[in-house]
Amino acid sequence: MFDKILIANRGEIALRVVRACREMGVKSVAVHSTADSDAMHVRMADEAICIGPPSSAQSYLSFPAIISACEITGAQAIHPGYGFLSENAAFVQAVEDHSLTFIGPTAEHIRMMGDKITAKDTMKALGVPCVPGSDGGVPTLKDAQRIGEEVGYPVIIKATAGGGGRGMKVAETAKDMERAFLGARQEAKSAFGNDEVYIEKYLTTPRHIEIQVFGDGKGNAVHLGERDCSLQRRHQKVFEEAPGPCITPELRAKIGKVCSDAVAAINYIGAGTIEFLFENDEFYFIEMNTRLQVEHPVTEGIFGVDLVREQLRVAAGMPMSFTQDDLKINGHAIEVRINAEKLPNFSPCPGKITQYHAPGGLGVRMDSALYDGYSIPPYYDSLIGKLIVHGRDRPEALARLARALDELIVDGVDTTIPLFHALLAEDDVQTGNYNIHWLEHWLAENLGT
Ligand code: ADP
Repeated sequence: MFDKILIANRGEIALRVVRACREMGVKSVAVHSTADSDAMHVRMADEAICIGPPSSAQSYLSFPAIISACEITGAQAIHPGYGFLSENAAFVQAVEDHSLTFIGPTAEHIRMMGDKITAKDTMKALGVPCVPGSDGGVPTLKDAQRIGEEVGYPVIIKATAGGGGRGMKVAETAKDMERAFLGARQEAKSAFGNDEVYIEKYLTTPRHIEIQVFGDGKGNAVHLGERDCSLQRRHQKVFEEAPGPCITPELRAKIGKVCSDAVAAINYIGAGTIEFLFENDEFYFIEMNTRLQVEHPVTEGIFGVDLVREQLRVAAGMPMSFTQDDLKINGHAIEVRINAEKLPNFSPCPGKITQYHAPGGLGVRMDSALYDGYSIPPYYDSLIGKLIVHGRDRPEALARLARALDELIVDGVDTTIPLFHALLAEDDVQTGNYNIHWLEHWLAENLGT
């Protein structure tokens, strides 16, 4: 095992990694920008080092700053968290070139899955079911129109280099194709510097179901069931749960095995998530994320395992601490994302926290880097905490979530907490009757957005 690792991230996820390190007897190094000198991860890690000014490009995304911080502190490995450099193949290469260990998959796997067309081709070849659509990139409007007819409208045009819900446009009918195709290319070009797009059948009422996988890099892999992340706003998840309300043990076992076999076949190392749309009892692959996800705690809740600990183990060349047979689901877990955002438009709302009180009690986990008097800087993501609850079944988890939300106090800035109070009052949320469009419709009806 490593003696010391560096955490190339901030906020709740940096704290999450510090906590795993502490339990494992591994020393942790926090890095921070000048805007984060007073941040909780800086206080909680064993050591902290300033790596630059507030701008992410010059701090949390700076290869030289982070690699120098490793050399100065003697850290042997880097945990990237999620976001920032977690899916940057060039960074992984740079880390390896400096004889350091990246706690995550290889540069090759990140590259393979970061390009969505290559990812889809790879998964298809490994027997993973995919959304019907174009074979690879679609270069011209004429090709797009032909594929639209073949696949059948509606279709979605997606950027090969896409991420974060950007570079996607829906064409409802053939008439819409020109606008959607050119629009998606334009957005892809400006957001990712690559205007290659591909086409998929647009599923009208799917759920978003993702399978957590874990590999040891030596051909062994397991799956840890699914998470249902269908409650989304602008393709961004806000409420996640495990197990999925409509996934039977048979469906789980089947798709889980397809996924673990696929990652075993490519010698995948570390945590990964294979994302699907799920409609009429069929799974359709959309993408793979080669990192720890924001919503990983719901999986930890139902399986009782520490995924960050496993990431450190396999990165250090050790075996995983569990086999597929060891992994049994216990109860139900739900996570809600607390963002510093002002409703109804979800505009970012940085500022000073005048009072913070975290909920507690049985089955409640609060992953947050907030404290009384903390000032949320305006430079970074608006996620300020994740409230995760666990219960013996879904109704108990929902009741516990309502109770924990009542206890949670975040004063001084606007947050998404009122949204979750309101959602819990909805029958469809109580019964789990929602798909990926449900929340957008609800927001339009209830908040007029
Ligand atoms: P990103 O990497 O930008 O998050 P994804 O491919 O993961 O993009 O898609 C994000 C979301 O977009 C999905 O969760 C779903 O809501 C929607 N989406 C993507 N592909 C389709 C499709 N073929 N049909 C319907 N919705 C889709």
